Amino acid sequence: MKIKTGYANSPQWKEVTIKSRLPEQLKCLDEMAHNMWFGWNHEARSLFKSLDEKLYEEVNQNPVLLLDRLSYDRKEEIVNNAAMMQRVQDVYQQFRTYMDVEPDKSRPSVAYFSMEYGINQVLKIYSGGLGMLAGDYLKEASDSNVDMCAVGFLYRYGYFKQSLSMDGQQVAQYEAQNFNALPIEREVDEHGNPIVVDVPYLDYTVHAYVWRVNVGRIKLYLLDTDNDMNSPYDQSITHALYGGDWENRLKQEIMLGVGGMLTLKKLGIKKQVYHCNEGHAALCNLQRLCDYVKSGLTFNQAMELVRASSLYTVHTPVPAGHDYFDEALFGKYMNGYPALLGISWDEFIGMGRENPDDHTERFCMSTFACNTSQEVNGVSKLHGWVSQKMFAPIWQGYYPEESHVGYVTNGVHLPTWTSTEFRRIYDKYFDASFMSDQSNEEIWHDIYQVPDAEIWETRMALKKKLVAYIREKFTENWLKNQGDPSRVMSLLERINPNALMIGFCRRFATYKRAHLLFTDIERLSKIVNNPERPVLFFFSGKAHPADGAGQGLIKKIYEISQRPEFLGKIIFLEDYDMQLARRLVSGVDIWMNTPTRPLEASGTSGEKAEMNGVVNLSVLDGWWVEGYRDGAGWALPQKRTYENQAYQDQLDASTIYSMLENEIIPLFFRHEEQDYSKEWVKTIKNSIATIAPHYTMKRQLDDYFSKFYIKQAQRFEQLDANNHQIAKDIAHWKENLVAHWDAINVVSKDTTFLENGGETGVRYQVKYVIDEQGLDDAIGLEIVSLRTLPDSDGREVYKIIPFKMVKHEGNQYTFVAELEPDVAGTFKLCVRMYPKNAYLPHRQDFCYVKWLD
Ligand SMILES: *Cc1c(COP(=O)(O)O)cnc(C)c1O
Repeated sequence: MKIKTGYANSPQWKEVTIKSRLPEQLKCLDEMAHNMWFGWNHEARSLFKSLDEKLYEEVNQNPVLLLDRLSYDRKEEIVNNAAMMQRVQDVYQQFRTYMDVEPDKSRPSVAYFSMEYGINQVLKIYSGGLGMLAGDYLKEASDSNVDMCAVGFLYRYGYFKQSLSMDGQQVAQYEAQNFNALPIEREVDEHGNPIVVDVPYLDYTVHAYVWRVNVGRIKLYLLDTDNDMNSPYDQSITHALYGGDWENRLKQEIMLGVGGMLTLKKLGIKKQVYHCNEGHAALCNLQRLCDYVKSGLTFNQAMELVRASSLYTVHTPVPAGHDYFDEALFGKYMNGYPALLGISWDEFIGMGRENPDDHTERFCMSTFACNTSQEVNGVSKLHGWVSQKMFAPIWQGYYPEESHVGYVTNGVHLPTWTSTEFRRIYDKYFDASFMSDQSNEEIWHDIYQVPDAEIWETRMALKKKLVAYIREKFTENWLKNQGDPSRVMSLLERINPNALMIGFCRRFATYKRAHLLFTDIERLSKIVNNPERPVLFFFSGKAHPADGAGQGLIKKIYEISQRPEFLGKIIFLEDYDMQLARRLVSGVDIWMNTPTRPLEASGTSGEKAEMNGVVNLSVLDGWWVEGYRDGAGWALPQKRTYENQAYQDQLDASTIYSMLENEIIPLFFRHEEQDYSKEWVKTIKNSIATIAPHYTMKRQLDDYFSKFYIKQAQRFEQLDANNHQIAKDIAHWKENLVAHWDAINVVSKDTTFLENGGETGVRYQVKYVIDEQGLDDAIGLEIVSLRTLPDSDGREVYKIIPFKMVKHEGNQYTFVAELEPDVAGTFKLCVRMYPKNAYLPHRQDFCYVKWLD
């Protein structure tokens, strides 16, 4: 027998977590550390901080890690300190009082699906505005006591950490998160075993752990496939946010939508409304269709129920924000679904196409979301209109202005984004009902009672705090990465809190035009280098690792910032995240935004600024179109002068320069006896009084209820009652109508007016007799009148004139329209026939249209 070189089996490693022991009296700290509530409660944050200030910063303000690392001696010390323990008790009391309130059952319950959530900087499961919005939404749902739960991913690497190389090249680093050191908890069953959700892929299943984030009273469930039950190929599904190739993206979206629904099912959770935040999660509707069909309904019946209870929010008109999948890739993963639904493959993939029969069209997740959701909305008034146009091809037969696509303008969570300093002002001067009545402008008007000096001192305190934060956080990195230490030191010295400080911080996507300010470098240099009136700009933001142009912008700005004349005047701050955002939106004087209209769907960072006495200077796009008030900020003119983008950029840049030179800078430095500008403080007060009240997350949440959730929950309940009777009736009615649709015909008509036109002030009649082919009063007719316009898209729907059904004999229905032209001009007229049923929520729900001769 030959002796082998060696002989060993493989170790079966057990993952074991050793937790640091907490004295009984401090157990409540652990409970609070595992609820994100601390993130928007100042007392809780300052309590954790007081446990060990230095350590608190070292652990990046993560209370779980803080408690874990706190020395036993320190814990003993706290327990023996009566004043400390009183404070612990007080905060815990406040926490319990908050938590022990029952959800409000008078409003509909909601399940919310999103690819990212920005809840706190310690939980790196967000990249930018979309995630921030979702995180803020859950916090407000908690404060407003909504019966809501949410689904997302626990990313192993999350989004990247940004640093810059010596020449300004963005370097993306992915740091693994240690899940045991985060304020989250593993979801377990009644025996304490981890819950595992099995999600079908191809011919096998992927297994996901479920983690729970307590967002105040709201539970956010995060799926995690990075475990040994899965092959390495599938472990990576939840590795990175917006990373990987299209195949990985599709696998992610299956996990979020299908896996998310299976998770809720496993946990026994049922809600009335399913809200899909961006198209990524739209497959949750697919899983719900499958469940209904499995329970014995037909596909069409299932669709009625799913659609009635689904809302889809679209967040961008930029094509890169919408996911398209090739038929081959989509088919690889999805080809089992048609059989589960009882439809054909073409019918299935057609739900993701504008033209379902066009085989060259890829499957679009957003189109699928539109087709499976009763309601769709954009995120500002302007973006609602842009979305109506964008999605118009899905509902042929109707014009964008007739679309059911609505809007809810985004808002921000007041307690998260208001600095402690401004919160103190609000608490002191505003009515006590302020927090529960945030949209009430009258309350905010009390800002006019605050002495100017107090506002200004608060502003100065915040500006100095930002500067101190930058010196503390960035010095080390800059010394390491930016070479010449003397230049770094001189940069730091030059940051002048008395300067007019302007912030431009957001993702570096090219449409956001961060480069605009640098169109005329000489003019810019004059602006920032006036010793009497110093001005200073902060830039911050990440570019997607695949976006070369965005990274080029960062590099360009960085290079300019290193020139001697701009040192300490143009400053790029790396690794924009929630923490830095909180400092910046409260620490600068002006928040600037210069997107290409109308590509900024809403934007929210400017809303955060409002709550901190920071004034907006922005293009009239997104929320600012609605938010801007004269005397409360600045707006770039709305009109597009040039088709050519480069010309338009140049014009916009020169507009910004002259606004700064002639208006903004003189106003800011108009000091009289006092050492600040009373005019500036007035602008601040105006903006807080008239703008801020309308952009809170509370207003946004209330809007979702009043515009969508309530009516959808009511309609769903009707459709669902008595073993889904009305859903079945509607499906049956639609099927019957479809079967006869092509045969419905015109028996006779009087369309003299449509042929010949007429005069204003004269009454005309148009008449049709229609054979409905055995359908019982199932159709409606209307005259659609289009008017040509010189600009925009060249035409608009001027008027819709409905017909009245006046007589019916057998199958023959007589329709009459009366009209009296009120203006002269040239119009295009045509008669449109549509299915009519009081149970339909809107025309696009059953988008059959026939234009009659
Ligand atoms: C608010 C916020 C955003 C969104 O900013 P926009 O102006 O809407 O683009 C992005 N990132 C962070 C960290 C934020 O806090």
